[in-house]
Amino acid sequence: MKYRSTRGQVTGQSFESVVLEGLAADGGLYIPEHLPTLPSDWQTQWASLSFAELATELISLFVGDDVSRADVSTLVCKSYSTFSTTEVTPLVDLERESNTHILELFHGPTFAFKDVALQFLGNLFEFFLERRNSVGGAHKITVVGATSGDTGSAAIYGLRGKKNVEVFILHPEGRVSPIQEAQMTTVLDSNVHNVSIPGTFDDCQDIVKQLFGRPDFKREHSLGAINSINWARILAQITYYFYAYFTLRRSVKDPRPVFVVPSGNFGDILAGYYARELGLPVGKLAIATNANDILDRFLRTGRYEKNSEEGVLATPSPAMDILVSSNFERFLWYLARDHEAGGDAEEAGRVIGRWMEQLRTSGSFAVCHAALTAARQAFWSGRCSDQDTYATIAKYYARDPSYLLDPHTAVGVHVAETLRSDIDKLGADTHTICLSTAHPAKFSEAVLKAVNENGQHLDFGSILPPAFIGLLEMPRRCLTCDNSADAVAKLIVEQISK
Ligand SMILES: *Cc1c(COP(=O)(O)O)cnc(C)c1O
Repeated sequence: MKYRSTRGQVTGQSFESVVLEGLAADGGLYIPEHLPTLPSDWQTQWASLSFAELATELISLFVGDDVSRADVSTLVCKSYSTFSTTEVTPLVDLERESNTHILELFHGPTFAFKDVALQFLGNLFEFFLERRNSVGGAHKITVVGATSGDTGSAAIYGLRGKKNVEVFILHPEGRVSPIQEAQMTTVLDSNVHNVSIPGTFDDCQDIVKQLFGRPDFKREHSLGAINSINWARILAQITYYFYAYFTLRRSVKDPRPVFVVPSGNFGDILAGYYARELGLPVGKLAIATNANDILDRFLRTGRYEKNSEEGVLATPSPAMDILVSSNFERFLWYLARDHEAGGDAEEAGRVIGRWMEQLRTSGSFAVCHAALTAARQAFWSGRCSDQDTYATIAKYYARDPSYLLDPHTAVGVHVAETLRSDIDKLGADTHTICLSTAHPAKFSEAVLKAVNENGQHLDFGSILPPAFIGLLEMPRRCLTCDNSADAVAKLIVEQISK
């Protein structure tokens, strides 16, 4: 199994180097050179596997000779033992009449779906470094990332205490929610360094980009990336699409579910696309966006266009507040190959290069009609306003049985409602699976606002996970640093040499 960059100038990379490197040297994202084929009897052989066993089967198909099957199994078991349910990602009913389900992805240590991938990535980093060091050498990796909240805590919990890994997470001072800040800064492991920056999330991300753009600094400290451009994160997420399918199949004959996914950087739903390409029976994948709707606009018009005038809009679902979706480039590569490059992988890289250059210089690019048609074959899309987000939370909370949605999940559920007639056209017995990306307690402000404005009462203490109780009062460790790449580079060097 080899990997190539979406920009075409890097090919033949191993799984290990792709994971440790993150972004390709030509600025592209890594994708498999060829998709593996599932064993012909997967539908029967995998039907009753546990989540970890299923992950072992799927991940083994993508690692080539880099990790033995036994090692994949060990890593996967370790990664999912930190989840609070044995099912890891349970499927629960939301509304029986419409066959709508919620796939709960928030049972990991930080209560957001990012744990599914980052628990695994942390163990994978440690595994590769220990193996390199066991034959001599002192390989270390310095993970540097920026966060507006969710990625940071999931990365910190994925990497805390890992050997040969130092992790620096930059967050904008006073601009992450109190719970998120507490989740990050109460982790006291010596390899975890929270850095608060007086500025915005974009400033933090900018600093990280600048550091990765300094070849000497990058090489000297072996910088590693944990954002969703890392292929291992997409790979780990493929499992829950299969797991949801098999869970559904226990009560439904030959399901072809529609998956509705609250989307920001397109990492979560891209795993669903790969699951479908591997052969999972999928009715449709539906992209749900908030007011930051670049993906929804693309599906409607074929034009991928930054909302440059207004910039990123602040919504009640902040983990989806993006200007462009970094992982969309991976899907675009397949569109480019099949509809602009006559099936030629090298030419597809050049097409992607041109599109990204247009996006950078003029803020948009458009794909041809055939490419748009193909995109619509795989995806539906829809957009949810802030008002509809609150209304959807209130509506399902008021029901009997009641279900409390977090604001990100509510965006997906609302979009599922707007797609109802399209879903029905796939067959009256079509099941809809809405991916739930966070526990409602994590976004308590929006949830309480939604419920209170609707005149209902919610005893928040009763839904608070035990891990959140007393969290705000626990001891913290956090560094502050000037808002500049030079200052952060200096801080990293100082901390590492301690
Ligand atoms: C990261 C995140 C998302 C968006 O996922 P993408 O992979 O970026 O599309 C949605 N909801 C929550 C709670 C998240 O943390």
